[in-house]
Amino acid sequence: MREIGHYIGGKHVAGTSGRFSDIYNPATGEVQAKVALASNEELRAAVENAKAAQAGWAATNPQRRARVFMKFVDLLNQNMDELAVLLSSEHGKTVEDAKGDIIRGLEVCEFVIGIPHLQKGEFTEGAGPSIDMYSMRQPVGIGAGITPFNFPGMIPMWMFAPAIACGNAFILKPSERDPSVPMRLAELMIEAGLPAGVLNVVNGDKGAVDAILTDPDIAAISFVGSTPIARYVYGTAAMNNKRAQCFGGAKNHMIIMPDADLDQAVNALMGAGYGSAGERCMAISVAVPVGEETANRLVEKLIPKVEALRIGPYTDEKADLGPVVTKEAKARIEGLIGSGVEQGASLLVDGRNFSLQGYENGFFVGGTLFDNVTPDMDIYKTEIFGPVLTVVRAKNYEDAIALPMKHEYGNGVAIFTRDGDAARDFTARINIGMVGVNVPIPVPLAYHSFGGWKASSFGDLNQHGTDSIKFWTRTKTVTARWPSGIKDGAEFSIPTMK
Ligand code: NAD
Repeated sequence: MREIGHYIGGKHVAGTSGRFSDIYNPATGEVQAKVALASNEELRAAVENAKAAQAGWAATNPQRRARVFMKFVDLLNQNMDELAVLLSSEHGKTVEDAKGDIIRGLEVCEFVIGIPHLQKGEFTEGAGPSIDMYSMRQPVGIGAGITPFNFPGMIPMWMFAPAIACGNAFILKPSERDPSVPMRLAELMIEAGLPAGVLNVVNGDKGAVDAILTDPDIAAISFVGSTPIARYVYGTAAMNNKRAQCFGGAKNHMIIMPDADLDQAVNALMGAGYGSAGERCMAISVAVPVGEETANRLVEKLIPKVEALRIGPYTDEKADLGPVVTKEAKARIEGLIGSGVEQGASLLVDGRNFSLQGYENGFFVGGTLFDNVTPDMDIYKTEIFGPVLTVVRAKNYEDAIALPMKHEYGNGVAIFTRDGDAARDFTARINIGMVGVNVPIPVPLAYHSFGGWKASSFGDLNQHGTDSIKFWTRTKTVTARWPSGIKDGAEFSIPTMK
């Protein structure tokens, strides 16, 4: 059985804790590898390597740091097919979708090639008599990233690309479900010219996360995963005097106004609701048609499309979606579907008991569609993270906007309409971080910032964009005076510009 260890100091090292976690092929249900779960000592070894490498890397001029990312982007493109298949084999998503996962990370690497410009400070000449004042953006030192299973290419790159471009060393703790792509990314960074020790991958579970949270040499932590763990990581990091940005779960609504192009809205709902088996933090899981007529027409168009979804293993090039990640995830999703039926929602398409010939042990869930869902039901309150779309009917626009406004989560939201006034009012009032107007999955591009509001995010700076440069650097402000001929006496009151 293939054993995955850690990547420390530019080398693969075997795990020594004696603890392992199984890695499945979700399409067949078979265990295909084992990943080591790090001990405190193994995390410490990675931190020591990072410490040894960091000062030299920070002193490397920003154009040279940028060139590593130029080469890395080339290597990602050269290795795209191999990376995508590796990703699909552990995650289960289609190969096309896996390429998208890697490309969205690659785009963040392209963004940080601008680091010489992005990391520039500010300068004020003549802030006082013979006084100049300037601010520098210096790396925080050692950063750590803790990532979820659902984007094993993109999310590690969201974190390590800006952190490393800013001159930090980095410890990545990927999801224990699909660590192979993160390990490959670390190898490719070294091949691109990154000095050994600047990027280390430590595999593990809660034990490794707790070791990161309490390590005295780690200055900043970026986390993406479920809300309970995001809350825990944020609180514990803060208690240990670390900077933290922690992104959690979601329940994204799409409002369909009576004037919307319904075919466009239905296609958007299909892709955003069922793509990647609904295992996206920006998946649409709640459709909110406004008015009975819109709702009836929408549901009528959705049913045959959901029934016709092609579900298959990643080796099926025509599949729309693959299995979910684990047996436990499948059982959880099917349990939630059952609760929807018990609590009175209308189950229009039932994806439970889905079976695929030749893949009977795979973790497949069929496309599922509910109508007449209400806000008190568990399928509305909970993030399902599966191929399940729920329809909540709203009488009018005000009732529709009130739903996402009152929901615990605030990651993404969308409105489909031809009415510019409605769209403008919606984008102004909605209390959610990422908003789409006739765009169902409004994931900002690399040069803007990604982040939700409410229980979808803890901390105050987002992923990528200029926020990421702020997160991975500390501001130092220097006030310098070069007095030629000024001989003033001691000043005992605070200097002002009066
Ligand atoms: P998860 O919270 O189970 O795991 C995330 C990370 O935390 C993993 O590295 C895992 O090893 C670690 N972890 C798990 N349990 C822990 C514990 N008790 N203590 C410390 N660390 C622990 O999440 P997941 O199932 O891998 O990913 C799916 C979740 O991630 C969904 O809720 C999804 O919405 C969310 N997500 C959010 C975003 C976003 O940007 N907001 C993006 C992608 C995924």
